[in-house]
Amino acid sequence: MATGIITSSDYLRHDTGRHPERRERYQVLLDRLKADIDLWQDLLKIEPYAATDQDLWRCHTPAAIERVRQGSLQAAIAGRIALDHDTIISADSEAAARLAAGGACRAVDAVVSGKLTGAFVACRPPGHHATIANAMGFCLYNNVAIAARYAQATYPDQIRRVLIVDFDVHHGNGTQDIFYDDPSVFFFSMHQHPWYPGTGGTDERGIGNGEGSTLNIPVPARLNPDHYLRLFRDSLDRILASFSPDLLLVSAGFDGHESDPLGDLLLTDQCYRIISRELAAVARTTSSGGLVSCLEGGYNLDTLGDTVHGFIAALD
Ligand SMILES: [Zn+2]
Repeated sequence: MATGIITSSDYLRHDTGRHPERRERYQVLLDRLKADIDLWQDLLKIEPYAATDQDLWRCHTPAAIERVRQGSLQAAIAGRIALDHDTIISADSEAAARLAAGGACRAVDAVVSGKLTGAFVACRPPGHHATIANAMGFCLYNNVAIAARYAQATYPDQIRRVLIVDFDVHHGNGTQDIFYDDPSVFFFSMHQHPWYPGTGGTDERGIGNGEGSTLNIPVPARLNPDHYLRLFRDSLDRILASFSPDLLLVSAGFDGHESDPLGDLLLTDQCYRIISRELAAVARTTSSGGLVSCLEGGYNLDTLGDTVHGFIAALD
């Protein structure tokens, strides 16, 4: 398998200060990957582009985009500003957020063209809490959702059905919101419950034509990791029995790690390697044959590098 990584030092320009989702996350992740010289040399490096208004409009209202843009303009004068009690914007956050979404789209290009079978978008800010109408939960634009709609719009003959798998410890409420009535994008989230943001019950299954194309598997804190992995695998089997994706996109949040300060799950680095191999196996059944993983959560600076390194190495 050819694996690639989307990186940009501009992801450091989203400056949240002393916040869990801080610039150092990107730095420790890149430092750890580069320390594995063989792996780093093998990874194809891809630069993101800044997502266009057209890219963003496929998932967000003009008002939501304007609030982020205005937030960055205000932050340029006032220093950082808070969009809500945990979503911070700095002067360059809007630019970084467009590069995060554009990075996910570039990764789609690389996978759909057959250049890569696995792409990891090492982006920040993260995206999966950003709803159609609102930035929230550290997220400004919904990177994985924008990539899904980009794939369908750019490659209409090749990419009709997209599966999004979200294993972040928090429910991907934004992604669910965007595709809730859309049967062409299946959204599967496994997350701790009850936990932020409070959504993601099993009764949330989609609406209208999209009914049945959302699957939420809420799990209790401190669930046995073997049980978690069994549920994850069984859920993927259930989805694939009725939905044949052309492309697999992943909201790769690592805050379900046993050491993470923002979650109470007990997943280990080995668990994430198993998840990675499971997802790579699913990707091989899709018509594009590949997967794009976008970084979401993961907040322990001492462990995040090793966890992501293992996840990427296991894609091969
Ligand atoms: Zn999270």
